[in-house]
Amino acid sequence: MYHELPRTARFWSFLFAVDQDLAETARKQGCPCGGRLHSAHYLRKPRGTPVQLPQSQCLRLSFCCDRDGCRKRVTPPSVRFLGPMVYLGAIVILISAMRQGPSPRRVRELSARFGADRRTIARWLVFWRERFSQTPFWKIARARLGALPEIVSLPYDLVDAFLSRHRRCRGWTLLLRFLAPITIPGA
Ligand SMILES: [Zn+2]
Repeated sequence: MYHELPRTARFWSFLFAVDQDLAETARKQGCPCGGRLHSAHYLRKPRGTPVQLPQSQCLRLSFCCDRDGCRKRVTPPSVRFLGPMVYLGAIVILISAMRQGPSPRRVRELSARFGADRRTIARWLVFWRERFSQTPFWKIARARLGALPEIVSLPYDLVDAFLSRHRRCRGWTLLLRFLAPITIPGA
């Protein structure tokens, strides 16, 4: 089943490259005020990385408007960081999905490996059930996924939809890309 994330450093550096693309798109669009965006990346300390990530890959890519009186921060979507959650998005998705899956033993293994306690996991499930399911993103995406089997438990069925059709690395990349719009406020 889907109880593993790709463990190779290549997968994580690929996700970083995807984030760089997303960031470049945001930078080119500029600030809504018409100002130019300057890099204002900040360092995060993600938990739950299956491999030791180099510090450059722990950067949350972000920008700041250069116009006086605006200086707005613009943070593009990410395939690595799920909003303000300290765990990498992939870990939050994986452990939440396994929690809903048929094998609770796996959850204990995973939470021990990634250091997420029961309360943290419970919070993640509330996020999927009460917040994610209410986002405009999901309401639209759900309609687009109409051809897929009924999606009842989130995020388990979502993981299933992507990973049952693709090899592990590709499935995870597509899923994380799909979910990227929810990683920024007001998505
Ligand atoms: Zn601006």
